Parts: sequence; C-alpha cells; structure tokens
Amino acid sequence: MALIVHKYGGTSMGSTERIKNVAKRVAKWHQAGHQIVVVPSAMSGETNRILGLAKEISAQPDPRELDMIASTGEQVSVGLLAIALKELGLKAISYAGWQVPIKTDSAYTKARIESIDDAKVHADLNSGAVVIITGFQGVDAGGNITTLGRGGSDTSAVAVAAALKAEECLIYTDVDGVYTTDPRIVSEARRLKVVSFEEMLEMASLGSKVLQIRSVEFAGKYKVPTRVLSSLTDPMIPLDEEMTSGTLITFEEDENMEQAVISGIAFNRDEAKITIQGVPDKPGIAHQILGPVADANIDVDMIIQNQGIGGLTDFSFTVHRNEYAKALDVLNSKVKSVISANSIVGDDKVCKVSAVGIGMRSHVGIASLMFRTLSEEGINIQMISTSEIKISVIIDDKYMELAVRALHKAFGLDQAK
Ligand code: ASP
Ligand code: MG
Repeated sequence: MALIVHKYGGTSMGSTERIKNVAKRVAKWHQAGHQIVVVPSAMSGETNRILGLAKEISAQPDPRELDMIASTGEQVSVGLLAIALKELGLKAISYAGWQVPIKTDSAYTKARIESIDDAKVHADLNSGAVVIITGFQGVDAGGNITTLGRGGSDTSAVAVAAALKAEECLIYTDVDGVYTTDPRIVSEARRLKVVSFEEMLEMASLGSKVLQIRSVEFAGKYKVPTRVLSSLTDPMIPLDEEMTSGTLITFEEDENMEQAVISGIAFNRDEAKITIQGVPDKPGIAHQILGPVADANIDVDMIIQNQGIGGLTDFSFTVHRNEYAKALDVLNSKVKSVISANSIVGDDKVCKVSAVGIGMRSHVGIASLMFRTLSEEGINIQMISTSEIKISVIIDDKYMELAVRALHKAFGLDQAK
C-alpha cells in the first residue's frame, strides 16, 4: 500500500463525462489498496471565464477579489469529483485550500505555499476515504483566499505530495509526457521516458508549458518522485502499465546515462529585446539601467554588454513581451538625462530557442553545433546565454519554427522512422 497523489488538469476535468472517467481511474487505484489524494484543476476554460468577468467590470480588479473568484473553479471541481466517487460507492471528501489548510503568503494572484497541515488528510485517508483537495489556492495568515499563479495546481499537487510524504505524484494531463520539443511543431518529437529534475527545471523556465515551474522547484527541493502521464487513456488500464507510462522526473543522474547529450529543444515566443545605444562605458551603468527596471517589478532575462569602443558601448537585455512597453516607458525618460546614452531601441518580435541537456557537462562542441546549424539555415543570432546545462539564443521570431526543427534534427532528437 502506498500513498499516491494524483493531479488532473483542466482538460481532464473538462466535462462531467471526463470527471466520471477520473473517478473510475481513482477508484481503480484505491481498490488496489493505495491511499489516494486527488488535486484537480478547474474545468478547462473556467478560470479564464471567471477572470474575464472581472475584466468586464474593471481594467484593474483588486487582486484580493480576483483570488476570491478565481479560486471557485477548483472548488466546483473537487465537489463534482467527490460526488462522482461516491456514485461509484467510494468514501470521498473534498476540501478547499483553507480547510486543509494550505497556508500561503499574501501575494495575491502569485502566492507561495508556506505550509500544509497534513493531520486532517491523514485521518481521512486512514478512515478509508479518498481525499480531494483544490489545486491553485490557499489561505494567508489573515484568512484571505489566495491563488498560486496560472497553472498553479501542479504546484499544489507536488506540495501536497511533499507534505504527506507521498510515494509518487502523478500529474495526469492531456499529453502523455514530456517531449523532446513541442510535437505540434516537430512531428518527429519523442516522448522522454525520464528527464532529470534539472533539465525539467530549465525546460519549464525556458517555455515548455507541461509543468508550472514552481511545481518542479518543489519536486526538486523535497525530492518528490513526479510523473507526467496521460489522463486520456482508458481509465481501467492496468496499474503497472500506468506506472511505467509517461515521463518520470528523476533525481539520479546515472539513470540518464543512456540518453542523448541534449534532451530537448525549448522555445519561448513571448520575448522582447531592448538596446540602449551609446552608453558611457563606466562603473555603475548596468545598475543605472536595470535598477529602475527592477524597481518597476519587471523581470530581466538575458543581458549583453560589450566592451566599449571610444568610451561608449551598447547595452541590451530581454524582458517578457507583455512588459516591453512598460520597460521602454521606464527607461525613455532616463536615457539621456540619467544614463547619458544616445538612444534606446527595441524589438518585440524576437523569441528564445534553447537546447537543454545535462550531457552538456561532459561533452564539448554543443554550442558550435548549435551555432553552425542556425547559420546553415541563415538565421541570425542576436543574443546568446549559457548555463551548465543549456544554451539559449535570441532570434527573429519569424524563424522560430525553422530553428526548432533544425536543432531537433541536428542534435539527433528526431524519432527513428
Ligand atoms: N485553474 C488554474 C488555471 O487555469 C490553475 C490550474 O489549472 O493549474 O491557471
Ligand atoms: Mg497546467
């Protein structure tokens, strides 16, 4: 007997028919003798619909009230799933985040989990019940409902699994695992049977939408064995088949020994680049430029500064495309007066393409293969950044798909046909 956490995404919970299928799958696990905690998302489209209502009333709704309403989608899901399980003759009980409680800080719309009380959940499990806990939400010290940011149910599930010391956290979703790249762009993309935690963390932060990045951080911090697998299979598929399907996030490097040097090509379209030209090349300049950007709460990703010629240099950095206008706004007034630079230019039609793989640590020539491949396709690289296990480039976004396809092939990730 093991304690297992199941997480079901919005598509998996998307209709009452699908919820009945989730109930069948959960019942199968329970009847095999396992203790099961389920953390579902809201039914697909529901969170968008609810947030849309607020936007119809106000351009800038109060974040506390946004969380109050956004959290209701998951509350409907847990109740419906409990009803479906009871229909199958199981004992089931649903809880909203505040009832567990899942305690968070007070950063509405992007709260962080601080603690999870496991007492009630263990008592219910020991009494033979399936426990269903809302994803995406918690409660702050003042008793206010908070949410964890879009896609936050992944994080709820992994955090619950960590708190309960679950044997495994199964993330059921509408894809059957983590792929070498998005199969909608490269049809030859392959499912990875295992991916290391570090690679998954890079992929999540570089644009792969399979898991919310914070859930991966949680899995790493508490070493929660986490598996991404499909909820669209027959719910009655044998347990052992299910336990070996999907993609397992591993913490042991040697399990990856057989894998290719590069595990995946990630991409992110939502990038924008800003360049300040003719910046005096002297101490304090990076701080003068990026200080006001940070003060405006804008995240900066890649940064490039060259050595100046004739005392002047260019300074470039990237931000999320949604924050491009705001970043330009912040800097426009300062370019000449505070920074004493010549001008500011920008481009919000760029994207980031990255190759990720822990094999990079022990192999040379990865960067040169990447740059050669892009040059053979006539793609100009605008910026480069590297870490121990990834290389990212900023390129014109009209070449994104071409770059992803070419790199996927060059690194030998295409499926054997
Ligand atoms: N329902 C929330 C969202 O749509 C959380 C989640 O699905 O993970 O972002
Ligand atoms: Mg999701």
